Amino acid sequence: MTDAPADLPTTVGLLDRLAAGPVICAEGYLFELERRGYLQAGAFVPKVVLDHPEQVSALHEEFVHAGSDVVEAFTYYAHREKLRLIGAEDLLEPMNRQALELAKAVARKHGALLAGNVCNTNVYDPADPASHDQVRSIFTEQIGWAVEAGADFIIAETISWAGEAQIALEVIKEAGLPSVIMLVPHKDPDMRDGGTVAEVCRALADNGADVVGLNCARGPETMLPLLAEVTAAVDVPVAALPVPYRTTRDEPTMQSLRDPIGEKLLPGGIPFPTALDPFTCNRYEIEDFTRKATDLGASYLGICCGAGPHHIRAVAEALGRTPPASAYSPDMSKHAYFGTDSTLKSGNQAFTGRL
Ligand SMILES: [Zn+2]
Repeated sequence: MTDAPADLPTTVGLLDRLAAGPVICAEGYLFELERRGYLQAGAFVPKVVLDHPEQVSALHEEFVHAGSDVVEAFTYYAHREKLRLIGAEDLLEPMNRQALELAKAVARKHGALLAGNVCNTNVYDPADPASHDQVRSIFTEQIGWAVEAGADFIIAETISWAGEAQIALEVIKEAGLPSVIMLVPHKDPDMRDGGTVAEVCRALADNGADVVGLNCARGPETMLPLLAEVTAAVDVPVAALPVPYRTTRDEPTMQSLRDPIGEKLLPGGIPFPTALDPFTCNRYEIEDFTRKATDLGASYLGICCGAGPHHIRAVAEALGRTPPASAYSPDMSKHAYFGTDSTLKSGNQAFTGRL
């Protein structure tokens, strides 16, 4: 932490923090910046780090204010395959380096952890060894930039192939940094190349992953059963970062949610990814999830695509914390109609049933 001002406490690393208690990591930058009008749905490449860096910094600040212990560099989908897809490979390195610097500035300012990030490459094919080399190359260059930026640890996330997760783990270990490996269980919760998420998490932990678990795609209700299997299968800290959407047994992922009311209006006929609003979990559902995940033994907690700062504050408060944003947590006692303050007009209080 050589860049930290001398008056800030020495940053404690991820593994020491996890040994002492839960760690919160806010995610969901793609969806939130898309919603705000700074990122394009579809390819979902985070050009915003170059086009509007102040917006990325602001969201990092909001998440830390709300209780995130980690500032995750917004390099999700800033990998070579995605940049090729949009014809902008020349932006690959500047985008990654800028994302890392933006995150680093906020992390160091607040004594938070700086996480580098890699994710699903969309090129992995278990039957094609050349694709394995391509994946390794993609991870190696991104993780190399993260190491040079001083990342405290590396997150590999939303990976649905056991083989691709294993490559990510190997590259992170070669870089000498702690690893958080998060798998994404789809409608069929097993990995695309076989094995349950619990079995694959176990294998990753046996191979040296520091934190294993699940993120994205599934909401609280459909992630919890799988989470129970993972926490029962491993001895390392377990990650649980659902999307904040009301997924169900029949529609277990955000991609499979259907909205009969709005269907005719929706591009492609499905809510994913830009019309999931009606399914959004409220903050109390996120508190409930956090308590249940903690009871199951998960200790690396957060929310993925769809998260807002109020969700992150809910995670923090469910853990008994009072981040700066808790100064503004609701207090309805002085509400004109629903409040209990003795100086409120009783006529208004009696009117509440008619509101
Ligand atoms: Zn996500």
